[in-house]
This record gives sequence, C-alpha cells and structure tokens, in this order.
Amino acid sequence: MRLISENNGFTGEQTLFLKAFISGLQQGRDLPHLGQDDQGRFTHEPEATVHGTPVDDLCREERIKHEKNGLDCYDTILNNALENRFPEADDVFRYKFHGLFYVSPAQDSFMLRCRIAGGALSTHQFRGLAEIAQDWGPGHADLTTRANVQIREIEPKNCPDVLMKLSELGLTSQGSGADNVRNITATPTTGFDPHELIDVMPYARAMHHYILKNRDLYGLPRKFNISYDSGGCVSVCADTNDIGFYAVRVPENDLGVEPGVYFRMQLCGITGHKQFATDCGILLTPGETLPVAAALIRMFIENGDRTNRNKARLKYLVDDWGLEKTLVETQAKLAFPLRYFPLDACEVPRPKDKQGYLGIHPQPDGKNYIGICTPVGRMSVSQMHALADIADAFGRSEIRLTVWQNLIIPGIPDERLQDAITAIAATGLDHRNHHLTGGLIACTGSRGCKYAAADTKAQAVALGQHLAGKMILDLPINLHLTGCKHSCAQHYIGDVGMMGTRVKIDDGSTVDGYNIVLGGGVDDQQAIAREVWSNIKASEINGLVEQLLCAYLAQRHDGESFASF
Ligand code: SF4
Repeated sequence: MRLISENNGFTGEQTLFLKAFISGLQQGRDLPHLGQDDQGRFTHEPEATVHGTPVDDLCREERIKHEKNGLDCYDTILNNALENRFPEADDVFRYKFHGLFYVSPAQDSFMLRCRIAGGALSTHQFRGLAEIAQDWGPGHADLTTRANVQIREIEPKNCPDVLMKLSELGLTSQGSGADNVRNITATPTTGFDPHELIDVMPYARAMHHYILKNRDLYGLPRKFNISYDSGGCVSVCADTNDIGFYAVRVPENDLGVEPGVYFRMQLCGITGHKQFATDCGILLTPGETLPVAAALIRMFIENGDRTNRNKARLKYLVDDWGLEKTLVETQAKLAFPLRYFPLDACEVPRPKDKQGYLGIHPQPDGKNYIGICTPVGRMSVSQMHALADIADAFGRSEIRLTVWQNLIIPGIPDERLQDAITAIAATGLDHRNHHLTGGLIACTGSRGCKYAAADTKAQAVALGQHLAGKMILDLPINLHLTGCKHSCAQHYIGDVGMMGTRVKIDDGSTVDGYNIVLGGGVDDQQAIAREVWSNIKASEINGLVEQLLCAYLAQRHDGESFASF
C-alpha cells in the first residue's frame, strides 16, 4: 500500500521519515482529551458545562466538540491514513475542523474545502491546488459561493499529504467546516476597482489570520460568515453573511463624526432561513472592524444555543435578545465605544452591477481585469494550469475568485489584452458576459453530497446550454440551483432559484425535481425569492425556464428588470 504519495515533491529520504513518523503514532500515542474553559484556556478535564450549558443538555455536535476539540484530531487523520481508513462516528465531524468532509454515501471519499482569504490566490497557489486535484483528487476543482475552492475524491491515505501541501502553499483548510468562522469573503475586484471606496483586502486578510491564530474562536455554536464589501459596483453578497461590513462614505455632518470612509455593520444574514443581514446602526473605522467582529463572535460563543442545532446561528440569539442587548454585550468586550451613527447620514452606496465583473474592465492603474465565466465553478486541472499561465504571462500573477463561482485575472495591460483573450478562449472558457451563464450557480448536488435531492451541477450546465441556444438576454438573470434546504447555492437570492426535491412519478418511484422560487436579489436589489412552482420534474426544468424568460422578454416594459416583472 502506498502511504505517502510518490508524487508529493518530497525526497525519498523525507518520505521514509514520514512513514516512520506515522507508524510511530500508530503505536499508541494520542493526545489527551483537552477541555476549554470559558476564557478559552485549556484544561485537561472536560468542564461540567459548556458556556453555561450543562453537558447533559448539549446536542450531539456540542458533545463531540466537548469531548475532544476537532482541531486535535490530526493524530487520528495520520493514523487512519496508515490504514487508508475513513473516520468513524464522532471523528467524521471532527475532521471538518481540518476541512475534510467524508461525503459517504454520495462518494466514498473526502471533499477538501480550503480557506482563501478574500478569494485571492497567487498563481503559485492556484497551480498548487491544481496539483492537489491532479495527484490526489478527481482531476478537477470546484469554485464555491464563498470564493473558495473544493477538491473531491480524496482518499484517507492521502489526507496528510493534501494538508501538508496546502500548508506549504501558504493556504489552509483549518476551520473551513463544522462550527467555525468560514472563509472570509471580500469584493473580488478590491484593490483594482475604479469604483470602490476602499481596498478591503488588507482587512479581510487580517480577519482571516486573526481567526486562524486564536484557538478560542473555533467551536462556535454554529458556523459563522463574515464578508467585506468595498463600496463599488461588484457584489460579494455581504448581506447574506452573519456579519457584512459595507464600506460607505460619511459626508460633512454635525453629528461629530469626521468625514471619510467607514464601514456599516450588518448582522444576521442567513438566506437559507429567508433573512438578509440588516444594518445595526453602527459605524466603524476600517481598523475597528476586526476587534468588533472578534468581540461579537466571542459574545456569540458564550451565549449561543448549544442544545438545538436549528436555533444555534447568530440570528436566533439576536432574535431572542434583541439588537440592543446584543450590542451591549458586544460592547462589554471592547476597549473603545461603539460609534452609533444613522445610516441615512451616510452617502447612498453605488448600485451593484449584476454580473458586471465579467468581461474586460479598466483598472485605476491603466491596466485591465478580465472576469471569466467558469460554468458552475468547475475547472479541469488543465484549465487551472492554463489560467495560471495566462495570469503570469499577461497579468500580475494573481487570480481572484468570486462568490458567483467565477474568477478574475487582474493587471493586464492594453497591449496584451488580445493575447490574453485568445489564450482564455483556448481553455474553453468565456470572458464575455452573456447575462445568463455568469449568474448560473449550482451547489455540489447528488453526485457529491448526501443531502442532495437532485443532480444540480449537471442540471445547471444543461439548463445554461439550453437557454443559450434559445435566446439572447440583454439584462443579467441569475439562476441558482441548490440541492436541498441547506441552500449552499443560495436559491432564495436568484432571479430564478431552484431547490432540489424528490418528485413522485406514476410507478411510485421518485425522480430528481425542484421547487422553484422567483424574484430574489442581493444588495440594492435585495429580495427573498417567492415559491411559485413546486415538485417540478428535473426533465421539465429547461422548457419551463425557457418559457418564463421568453415571457419576460416579450412582455416587459422598457428596461424592466426580471425582479420587478
Ligand atoms: Fe449538499 Fe444541500 Fe449544500 Fe447542495 S445545498 S451542497 S445538496 S448540503
């Protein structure tokens, strides 16, 4: 049995050392079960309560975390690798602390979910991810709706190599699953966006590293999302996050606040539960966003529900307490006063340009960025290498990921644009905005997720191809296909959203199908889509959506958007 991949870049001598190291672990070493007290200090005996909740009342996932911190299962990962064995029972949940999802029965393998601060990758890192997908995965990688990368079909024996390689690339998967702060997102064009108010990447990166380096910020009551919007025209769906920081300009005022660029803090976005984040009345300087988020997370850690998973997100604590108490408790953890400032005293933000980042756009430095459509986020390894080559040859050796499962290559001078476009076309990808495929989002679906009721990715690709052959849209339409109520593809914010369901047919069996919602949007077009049709067979989707969009094109009034149709 091959324990350490021969294709991992290590010398033979190093590989032998690693084999011996893992074998040594198998002979009995294991970490003591550590507990954590309310201040995040480690104790060798688990506490009788977890942040005030008696151990006997904890839900299953809380009990697992209480018995052994998920971050401490690395020895288990190594030992299971030795036997090419999958984790059992509670360790399946703990593996997610390292970004490893055992996705049986959909696939008998792991899915790796990375963390990519602000969705920004160097070409070196992008190539490294392609190598992981090539050496230990299925030969392709998936872009996610958190500007992240997932790689599937990883065997237990390869997990240590995958995690080490990720780390050596300057990346990590730590905390990308389970009850942790997830990938920090940022406006994908930030730093080269002519319309933005501030470059938010430094703040997104600072938040990313702060979370990684503070062990007490793991093991929340539930997952937690944070996003930075730089105030330009490109959306990052910040209002779908537990904390959405929106850059705003404060003009001259008589309220005692210096004019300048600040952030509004929006709280409790959770669109799977049909709720956007809302402004909480607070104005923050850029440097204040990190300590305020940390204070709020710690407040949530101490007070969130650890008995009922369905009520454990931040939203439910705020529903229970009210906003005022939430902010008072957050304030208690801060060394500076929260700045209350009315939203309507800030300048109105620019409207978002839906799918507007696709295609060629000028940067303030005279160069250009190119937004490229990667249908439903899936890229082959050869496409990934080609994209990295393009970014090296014509750009600034950087690739940005979007929350729309697409990507951007920045820093291309005018004189290299045509060569870059030709090279992009040669990959089989398209930089042009067709107003349709750029907003075509699909979750993993039944080929890789046990919760899925439908094969969303394949259905979405087929739907995109069908519609592209039938019509030309002059306004962007976003189509979101999600496989189940967990709403990873955020169907409630799509112009057309579909949630997978099983549909009964005449012989009593079931087939893939969807419940269809219409009229969703984010940011200045914020709306939760409403269900219009239910239990539609997947085989009928293409025709139904075609009819719907044809009716829109035929009957709309001048410039009428789909949402207002
Ligand atoms: Fe799986 Fe459901 Fe998420 Fe789709 S929405 S990836 S089916 S959990």
